[in-house]
Amino acid sequence: MTETRVRFAPSPTGYLHIGGLRTALFNYLYARHTGGKMLLRIEDTDRTRFVEGALENLLKTLKWSGIEIDEGVKLDENGEVTEVGEAGPYIQSDRVKAGIYDKYINQLIEEGKAYYCFCSKERLDNLRERQKADGLTPKYDGLCRSLSLDEAREKIANGEKYTVRLKLPKNTDISFEDRIKGKISFNTSDMDDQVLIKEDGYPTYHFAVIVDDHEMGITHVVRGDEWISSTPKHVYLYEAFGWKSPEFIHLPTVLNKDHKKYSKRNGDGMVEDFIERGYLPQGLINYLALLGWSPDSEEEIFTMEELAEQFSFDRVNKTGAVFDVRKLDWINGHY
Ligand code: GLU
Repeated sequence: MTETRVRFAPSPTGYLHIGGLRTALFNYLYARHTGGKMLLRIEDTDRTRFVEGALENLLKTLKWSGIEIDEGVKLDENGEVTEVGEAGPYIQSDRVKAGIYDKYINQLIEEGKAYYCFCSKERLDNLRERQKADGLTPKYDGLCRSLSLDEAREKIANGEKYTVRLKLPKNTDISFEDRIKGKISFNTSDMDDQVLIKEDGYPTYHFAVIVDDHEMGITHVVRGDEWISSTPKHVYLYEAFGWKSPEFIHLPTVLNKDHKKYSKRNGDGMVEDFIERGYLPQGLINYLALLGWSPDSEEEIFTMEELAEQFSFDRVNKTGAVFDVRKLDWINGHY
């Protein structure tokens, strides 16, 4: 049987919040449960959203929580990066510099599965405004789809700026089976020709994530359910390359007391705040494990090892779970 390989793949766009920590935890518990490997990959290709100090916070918080990383980035007891585990580090901006994504994008372009797009930001903004005014969901109109490769190469030789877009087939169903949510289908007529390479030459998340998950041998993609609508693009890319798609497991959202999603952007629910308020890692981890997952017993207090032993995706809820600080206090009081 193939070894389980999961990854936590945060973007350093803010301090780690409890939803992110729970995603890391479920990946880790599954890796330990199956005797597989837990990878850490830093997804920092969106340079405009990079937040100073976020990477350091992420690494320190993971270290504090007791989630151990087998591959990617390894830390010393102070949370500093000292070694890279058995392989890595997996930092996407370094992988861009090493040219790792180039051969893959060239392959898609050569095979007519991706195309160069020369539309200016101004044109795209106008198009979006027009579509919105007509009550339509904004979407690229495919103007550059019909350019031949020779025409496109000539424009590039003349110094025109470009992006590379995915050439989705028209009116085609794309389905995948999610371990928690069941079968999910989308039609390409509701999907955009996703930008894969940006004007600055960096891959977008959607392109880097599938190249990396493939190269790193990821068997199970475990992430928040806000990524469900992106998954058909990824599934299509796996097919376009002829690669086996990993299994997808989209976790229900962790909700705040107002039943809203915690988000990095508004800074609420930061793990750092719980650390400062004196919560113990075992208490927070135990509570997060029970948030969206229920054990096969009445028990509520667990060690990390016990959680790993009992963990399964079959007992993860389908819908969002509200973070209840009173419950956290109760559990934290047991340590
Ligand atoms: N980089 C994404 C994030 O920070 C992770 C998405 C994924 O796991 O595929 O949310």
